[in-house]
Amino acid sequence: MQLLKDRILKDGVVKPGNILKVDSFLNHQMDILLMNEIGKEFKARFSDCPITKILTIEASGIGIAAITAQYFDVNMVFAKKAQSLNLDGEMLVTKVESFTHKKVYDVILAKKFLSPEDHVLIIDDFLANGCALLGLIDLVQNAGATIEGAGIVIEKGFQDGGRKIRDMGIRLESLAIIDSMTDDSLTFR
Ligand code: 5GP
Repeated sequence: MQLLKDRILKDGVVKPGNILKVDSFLNHQMDILLMNEIGKEFKARFSDCPITKILTIEASGIGIAAITAQYFDVNMVFAKKAQSLNLDGEMLVTKVESFTHKKVYDVILAKKFLSPEDHVLIIDDFLANGCALLGLIDLVQNAGATIEGAGIVIEKGFQDGGRKIRDMGIRLESLAIIDSMTDDSLTFR
């Protein structure tokens, strides 16, 4: 998606530890015109799928997923990062290791919001090692719902999350795939 790639080149900042900061337009301040174009693009790429629900993980996926859900005319639900677990059997639970905080979280989703009849599109801002996405896939599978695919805004193609997900046979659409990034250069696939 050229608009997104141009914006990453203009406003993205590479930080130590292979982190790309895009907080001026994607995951702190959000450029809503760009978010709308992103939502439209996901709709175009998955227009052949009978999506009934959009799933993401808090916090930075929520805005993107909400705008995307408008284009599919379905509800969005987000998995929550839980500090302490109070399991009452009504929750789906999985573990996710955070790339940015190097911490393992329990991630939860109320069973009532994902049913076996659902056809789910998973949306997230970044794909790095794939932990967040694998956790969300696990939740959908535990709910007995169908995964139609995953839509990622920025995939860091030099990390192996994308390969893991594609190897599972899951349809993955990333709007910008970064091949390499250093302080002074960034290239796309
Ligand atoms: P993964 O679980 O694929 O290793 O990492 C994905 C999650 O980590 C995303 O939900 C995102 O919040 C965060 N993340 C991974 N890489 C980056 C990055 O380069 N920049 C930012 N801002 N977040 C990242």
